[in-house]
Amino acid sequence: MPSKAGIKNMLPLFKAYPRLAETLPHRLLSDYPTPTGRLSKLEQTLNMDSLYVKRDDLTGSTYGGNKIRKLEFVLAQALATNRKEVLTYGFAGSNHATATAVAASALGLKSISLLMDQPNAGYLRENLLLSYASGAELHLREDWDSLQKLTRKIKLKRLVRARKIPRVIPPGASEPPGTVGFVNAAFELKEQIEKGELPEPDLIFAGLGTSGTVTGLMIGLRAAGLKSEVIPVSVVLKSFTDEKRVINHFKETVRFLKKHDSSFPGMDITEDDFKIYDEYLGEGYAIQTEKSREAIKLAESDGLILDGTYTGKVFSALIDRARRGKLKRKTVLFWNTKNSRDVSRIIEKVNYTDLPEAFHKYFEHEE
Ligand SMILES: *Cc1c(COP(=O)(O)O)cnc(C)c1O
Repeated sequence: MPSKAGIKNMLPLFKAYPRLAETLPHRLLSDYPTPTGRLSKLEQTLNMDSLYVKRDDLTGSTYGGNKIRKLEFVLAQALATNRKEVLTYGFAGSNHATATAVAASALGLKSISLLMDQPNAGYLRENLLLSYASGAELHLREDWDSLQKLTRKIKLKRLVRARKIPRVIPPGASEPPGTVGFVNAAFELKEQIEKGELPEPDLIFAGLGTSGTVTGLMIGLRAAGLKSEVIPVSVVLKSFTDEKRVINHFKETVRFLKKHDSSFPGMDITEDDFKIYDEYLGEGYAIQTEKSREAIKLAESDGLILDGTYTGKVFSALIDRARRGKLKRKTVLFWNTKNSRDVSRIIEKVNYTDLPEAFHKYFEHEE
């Protein structure tokens, strides 16, 4: 609960809906607002009129990126319900699992990561080492069914031994409490617009994985009265996230907010209200595309460090739209969702051979 002294640091969503501050557990894990900035070199190169970035790469002082905003609500809920452990899922190099490991450890929670095999990459090795350094218990399996089986086994073991089961966090923390983190992010953006930091964007480009980020933004922008349109650029196969999933997640999150504060506006969404950009994915999750390689290089001119799995693909969509003349006279905001904190000092203390053996292959056969 926010103290009187904390009013200044109160989340913008809580200022707008004070009842939520009383009903929704929240633990601050970052300094807000995250900075915004103008990308003037890229504006010139891409012949655009107005291009800005939202620096969510700088959430969290140890490890940033978009998952921190979600975990502030999800982990706070785990603590409020007296859980001691959290369990979550991801691919082997999951930013989400890593962010969960780091944030859980900061809040005194033990974390368990159930990970699925994926193509190897440099960031994957870094994330695994950081998760391990944060005290996470790591498991690797080949498919989703085996992860579910393992979850039941872990739960049963805990139940029998300690009568305590871990709070299960879905992939990407994309469940209503987590997604509220991005509803708040839209209110935060509104405050920055009102202060004159940036003009109100016409378009906001953001990655679509488990969908909490873009769904939370869509809800928050509407509730905050901003007219910015979210452009969800998919980084996963349609079978994983499609329009239906976004719509369901939108509805359940609005219901969740209304349940916690009946004054939160009711709102609905249909397939006509948004379009998923799925032509920048290439062959699949974490598989590089030529266009994203080019995007990563180009973005460096304005000091942006992007990645091949998420932000490079999102930026390649932005570049492509700009080159087709679709972004003329538009104010465009690129939402940077990728951690940019340097974790090398933390992970240099870990030897990969300390990790469970199943993970060694990522270090012994690089790419
Ligand atoms: C998880 C992630 C996304 C996708 O966010 P979702 O809320 O899962 O859709 C985008 N970018 C990066 C860097 C991520 O780690």
